[in-house]
Amino acid sequence: MAPEGVQGTFPGMPPSLYAASASKLNAFLDCPRRYRFAYLDRPTPPKRTQRAHTSVGNAVHNALRDWWDRADRTPQAGAALVREGWIDVGFRDGAQSARWRDRSEAAVAAYLTGLDGGRQPVGIERTVAFVSGTVRFTGRIDRLDERDGELVVVDYKTSRRVPSVDEARSSMALALYAAAVWKMFRRPTYAVELHHVPSGVVVGHRHTSESLARQVERAKSIAQEARRADADYARAGAASEAFAPVVGPLCRWCDFRAHCPEGQQVGPEHSGWAALGEDEPGAPDPRAVAADDGEVSDGRDE
Ligand code: SF4
Repeated sequence: MAPEGVQGTFPGMPPSLYAASASKLNAFLDCPRRYRFAYLDRPTPPKRTQRAHTSVGNAVHNALRDWWDRADRTPQAGAALVREGWIDVGFRDGAQSARWRDRSEAAVAAYLTGLDGGRQPVGIERTVAFVSGTVRFTGRIDRLDERDGELVVVDYKTSRRVPSVDEARSSMALALYAAAVWKMFRRPTYAVELHHVPSGVVVGHRHTSESLARQVERAKSIAQEARRADADYARAGAASEAFAPVVGPLCRWCDFRAHCPEGQQVGPEHSGWAALGEDEPGAPDPRAVAADDGEVSDGRDE
């Protein structure tokens, strides 16, 4: 039976749908002010320059996507894709960028060594969506495998920190992806996995229909709160009091810090390369200080 709450809407009664994604909901949870900057203020306030760890994450994700288009699905081909598509943005200098490019090439090659290139995934960077109540969830799954007749949601991680099994279990994003796959493919989908490319560690969790339904309901509850805040913004604009800043360690990483006087009180801002962990050893991984770090991506938008 499909998880409760993943049902469609009544025909002929189109509701006003709230467009949600895991990153949007997490932005609202982490800091409503940041959510307002990112999703409501128009024009969107300029973000700071992309950080190096996001460049690394994007380059690795892109290589792992494009590898499936290659006739020669070899680890060397994966490494070449990283090199060709390297994103030289946010690093301290050229030497640091080159070092991380080499490191990322090696990590991708090692990861691909353990992969069967002859087994085509069901989906690669597949966009998925479903409607539940008055919320429309969308997301992009890094890879959707089929193993032993079962669909498995795979999410790549490139952070320094190796994810835990608990993160796979508690991740709202992974649960929403599984629920969306269930809905779109009309196939029960329980298995979710985090693949940490730098270490090759894979952690997984097997949901139940109840645990998926719980995550869907949790997401809907956050969406409901965000919808109320959106309505207040429509009424009051930037003067709305529904977007209080949540001042804390994340402010040192926030892309919108330049527009946020409260957040600037927490300082100093981390450098663009701090999350690489090379010369700010005390700087925690930004994903480790998020309100719900199981949800935080490698800085990639969904
Ligand atoms: S600087 Fe801090 S308080 Fe301000 S928007 Fe960013 S996370 Fe929120």
